[in-house]
Amino acid sequence: MILPKSNHLSPEQLNEVTAIVAEFGCKIQPIEGAVRTIYAIVGDERDELMINRLEGLAYIDRIDRIQSPFKLMDRRSDLANGRLEVGGVTLGTELLVIAGPCTVDPKNPGYLLETAEAVKAAGAHVLRGGVWKPRTNPYTFQGDSKSLDILMEASRRTGLPVVTEVMDEGHVKLALAAGVTLLQVGARNALNYSLLRAIGKTIAGKNKVAVLLKRGLHMGTLNEFILAAEYIASFGNPNVILCPRGTAPALDGYRNYPDESIIPLLKEKTWASVVVDPSHAVGKASYVPACALAAVAYGADGLSIETHVSPSHGIGDDPKQALTPDALARTVAEARKVWELRRSSRG
Ligand code: PEP
Ligand code: MN
Repeated sequence: MILPKSNHLSPEQLNEVTAIVAEFGCKIQPIEGAVRTIYAIVGDERDELMINRLEGLAYIDRIDRIQSPFKLMDRRSDLANGRLEVGGVTLGTELLVIAGPCTVDPKNPGYLLETAEAVKAAGAHVLRGGVWKPRTNPYTFQGDSKSLDILMEASRRTGLPVVTEVMDEGHVKLALAAGVTLLQVGARNALNYSLLRAIGKTIAGKNKVAVLLKRGLHMGTLNEFILAAEYIASFGNPNVILCPRGTAPALDGYRNYPDESIIPLLKEKTWASVVVDPSHAVGKASYVPACALAAVAYGADGLSIETHVSPSHGIGDDPKQALTPDALARTVAEARKVWELRRSSRG
């Protein structure tokens, strides 16, 4: 829908916009109000180039889109009927719980192996653990491929599927070869379109491999977030789970600006399941349980919670933000109550 700055387009202006949209196979239908006329774009109005050209005209106030810019992730797309299964949980029918340390310590595999057993006992369905770490400081621990073996050993021992972050195509290949079930795209890479494309292509057709896509730190609009998922889907794998994890700038006292309240808005736009990461949103273990419960109240389909048997011995974010397995068990039990409450009150 084209809204001009003046009440009507002049005949020359109308000719110009008509010629532009015609290049993209669309037509213009004026809708005359008592005072103003607005101009509907009839046809597929999703072409960014067409919108950019119209927005660049000095006499145009703005373009309001009727169609959403995402074709596959849209709530109304054909894909909306399929339900994703991860870790034995059909998303939407039961609260999915992902837990484990921020980072797998390659020198002390015992911590991960113990944590894996403990998170399973606390009710987790999927084990998380960072093998390759995107660190702000290049002199801090960057991860180690050896940790992948430890993660897979923990998976074998517990029967839990695993999720780990991949930062490049090489990681994707190694993770898939090792048997990782869920690939995580981190907040720092959520705008890395080459990576999103590579992930979509590499896992095309491998139905069981899903992607946990974190919200980028600076993704101000929800469309940016959903379009990142659209990248992965459009290159061959629509099994994308959206993961709000807080944005920048941080709410004073928290690590990021907690954003679980976007869930209802996401669900209006897309069919994708939403798994919230409260650990990175708030960044401090004592604040994590409340954020987790709020996420479920807002409609989260799952939670991803950093957990470590001995948080102070963790080598990533764990000393600050990991829950102990006991705290995880309490949080999961409470979160399931909120889930049930929500389900029973909404019928
Ligand atoms: C993580 O999950 O440990 C992580 C690095 O997350 P994010 O990309 O959300 O910061
Ligand atoms: Mn972390």
